[in-house]
Amino acid sequence: MTGPVVARVAHARVAGTWVADALVALSETGIALVDAGSATPEPTAPIRIDATLLPPITDAHVHLGLADAAEGRPTTLARVLDLGWDPAALPALVAATTAAHPGLDVGVAGPFLTAPGGYPSDRAWAPPAAVVGVATASDAARAIRARAAAGASVVKLALNSEAGPVPDDALLAAIAAEARAAGLPLVAHAQGAGQAERALAAGVDVLAHTPWTERLSDAVVAAAAKRQTWISTLAMHERDGDAAALARATDNLARFAAAGGAVAYGSDLGNGIGRLDLDPRELAALRRAGVDGGALVDALLAERLLPPGPTVSLLPPGVDGDAAVLAALDRARPTHIRSIAQELA
Ligand SMILES: [Zn+2]
Repeated sequence: MTGPVVARVAHARVAGTWVADALVALSETGIALVDAGSATPEPTAPIRIDATLLPPITDAHVHLGLADAAEGRPTTLARVLDLGWDPAALPALVAATTAAHPGLDVGVAGPFLTAPGGYPSDRAWAPPAAVVGVATASDAARAIRARAAAGASVVKLALNSEAGPVPDDALLAAIAAEARAAGLPLVAHAQGAGQAERALAAGVDVLAHTPWTERLSDAVVAAAAKRQTWISTLAMHERDGDAAALARATDNLARFAAAGGAVAYGSDLGNGIGRLDLDPRELAALRRAGVDGGALVDALLAERLLPPGPTVSLLPPGVDGDAAVLAALDRARPTHIRSIAQELA
């Protein structure tokens, strides 16, 4: 693609703000407004897009290797983030997924980094190559630099003291520093007493799941809200039939969101749920945690977690605000910005 596609759209959500009948520039780096101060000149006859455009509706926690991602029914998702699989198997999985869903953007972590013998190395669902044991800071450096070179979007770390050993504080800090040096957000699966607090203290950027092991104190939640993104994954506890875990996670997430923390919608697709689409139970669970309206749309777009993509979500032109988006989610379709001009000119 040479330059941005400049188009006049019925409605768009740009940087969290709704604009109507707006001139926008669409490029590999998302949707930008074209205005008097803009570097992009207004064309004499811009394309008209009789639709509403949003940044990509995102599921920030999927495992393509465990899902029916290549199944061809239309999806309302425009972007997914794979949080753990064999890196050698990922290119074929991503290719099959995007062949079935041409508008979809797929980001990946690659393997789970974990303490040697740690979770999920003992799980039947995890192929051996999906798990990389990290015993030292130099192991961490090697693994994280390899992920950066492979084009990963994030680094995934397992910190599950209920299912095996976890890195000690010094190694955890070294992993966080290495991810920061590589420019990759560090996403941790924190499970077991005290692990969410350890992740926060070490500088982990993102929790792959809302913490559910224990009720976190208001002080910890407030500190987390300043520094972290939490990926929701509340409905997995419903699927597990664990009402107590669901209640603890819902309470933690409600306070995190109320304190201004960045919430990202995530389903843990592949864990008890297979279809690549928005999960109504996850949406309902987020609402029960008080994440609704504009906050729910923010969670669905995950703009504080991932950079603007080469894809957008397309909705009917009458969708003119956050409430209208939530009412029309099942009509959202992923579209690659590259194809918009051809599809809609
Ligand atoms: Zn997962």
